[in-house]
Amino acid sequence: MKILVVGGAGYIGSHMVKMLSNSGHHVVTLDNLSTGYRDAVKYGEFVEGDIADSSILDQVFSSTMFDGVMHFASYIEVGESVIDPGKYFRNNFSNTLNLLDAMVRHDVKNFIFSSTAAIFGEPDYVPIDEKHPKKPINPYGKSKLMVEQALDDYEKAHGLQSVCLRYFNAAGADPDGELGERHNPETHLVPLILQAASGRRDAISIFGRDYSTADGSCVRDYIHIVDLCSAHLIALTKLVKGSGSKRYNLGNGNGFSVIEVIEVVKKVTSRSFNVIEAERRPGDPATLVADSTLARSELNWVPEYDDLSVITQHAWEWEMSHFNH
Ligand code: UDP
Repeated sequence: MKILVVGGAGYIGSHMVKMLSNSGHHVVTLDNLSTGYRDAVKYGEFVEGDIADSSILDQVFSSTMFDGVMHFASYIEVGESVIDPGKYFRNNFSNTLNLLDAMVRHDVKNFIFSSTAAIFGEPDYVPIDEKHPKKPINPYGKSKLMVEQALDDYEKAHGLQSVCLRYFNAAGADPDGELGERHNPETHLVPLILQAASGRRDAISIFGRDYSTADGSCVRDYIHIVDLCSAHLIALTKLVKGSGSKRYNLGNGNGFSVIEVIEVVKKVTSRSFNVIEAERRPGDPATLVADSTLARSELNWVPEYDDLSVITQHAWEWEMSHFNH
């Protein structure tokens, strides 16, 4: 297949580009490098450009007849989205419409969208299946849900088929050690704990100890980056073959509290570090755990690295090799 990966220089996108390319597909990455890294795109072609720019999109779509588009380019910080909602609605929603319109102009019909557990908001029940009500509590989740809703209408109007994959907490790194997580500033729990373990930061803060969870800290479902990517590859292959539009929740179905993740990292790294109890972070639901039964049954998707020790071990290897400790 010929695949356009938008946001292929980012954390998830760069792992996806590698998997697609190693599976024999022709990959073109389009990325504006606002948060991604050119040297993270180790496979296929690279075009620097922004999806806000219709002329770049026309050039890219004219140069190759793509079988499908995977879209990873978005802002992802819940806290920032609360402070600066316009940034999130403009890039994550409005610019995505620009990309979809270009696909329509160039008759590209298959779209895989990076969605998020944040579209569900504070859960009515866990684990969260696809039928769970969608009531996002922050602009980040709203911007992603708006794209999902627009996709229903693009399908009706233009026949554009899509699979939306709602990630729970992506973590880990390329088991070969070639790629990993590099956000600047880093806001995600696993890499921040690893930075505390490696000595790149003084301490890790637990954001809230008064949630209604067993130990009072937030519970999340951590999924290995490679398992996320394998779900994308299966979803795209089926979509191109005509399986029709789908929405899937992707996680392992196991919840770990912030305190439990810290304990796992201490064991994996054999390092000790300072842990601080801090205020809650705005916009955080207490518990997010996926019910991925649908993805497992319809996609025959089986996560390979569902053990948090392995997920954090791979991320630790990246932290140690990439940041030279
Ligand atoms: N978290 C934390 N300390 C940190 C960073 C995150 O306690 O330094 C918590 C955060 O409040 C959330 C969980 O860890 O409950 C996962 O946060 P992350 O930003 O990694 O992912 P999110 O769930 O927001 O997608």
